[in-house]
Amino acid sequence: MPAEEVFVALGGNIGDSQTIVAQALDALANISQTSLRASSSLYRCAAVSDIPQDDYINAVALLDTNLEPMALLLELQAIEHAYYRRRDQEQRWAPRTLDLDIILFGDRSFNDSHLIIPHPEFAQRLFVLEPMFEIDGDRFIPGYGSLRYLIDNAPAISLEKVT
Ligand code: AMP
Repeated sequence: MPAEEVFVALGGNIGDSQTIVAQALDALANISQTSLRASSSLYRCAAVSDIPQDDYINAVALLDTNLEPMALLLELQAIEHAYYRRRDQEQRWAPRTLDLDIILFGDRSFNDSHLIIPHPEFAQRLFVLEPMFEIDGDRFIPGYGSLRYLIDNAPAISLEKVT
């Protein structure tokens, strides 16, 4: 079977997030049966939260993989753990060292207790859409529309490219 295109969103706001996200992009390139085709710039984004916390650093990677979705999720979680993320102590929207989400996996739809594809919130998250647009601006997502359309309709947030 040919490799499938996967968009992965990266984010973190604890510690040296620029370094952590940059290192995580390198780690994605080392996943078995997977290659890193493109990665976006790093973006700085105000946290969407009632809990006071630092800004996030976000990015998106485009992978080609021969892994199945659950196998890739386990690889991503291993990378998260390498950065000491403690998922079981976390609240939703709490600060985190590194968060890796599968956004799109080929044209698959998948929904079980461990994995939902496409990611249920990506179309509302400019910190995912803008980096996707940077690396694949012509992308049309079946069932959602063009990236341009999604960006124009997503809730406004404070987002800037890290130079
Ligand atoms: P979060 O705190 O947003 O990183 O959510 C982590 C949990 O979401 C994990 O337990 C995953 O099993 C689950 N999950 C569901 N869909 C996805 C997805 N598309 N990408 C990554 N994690 C997912």
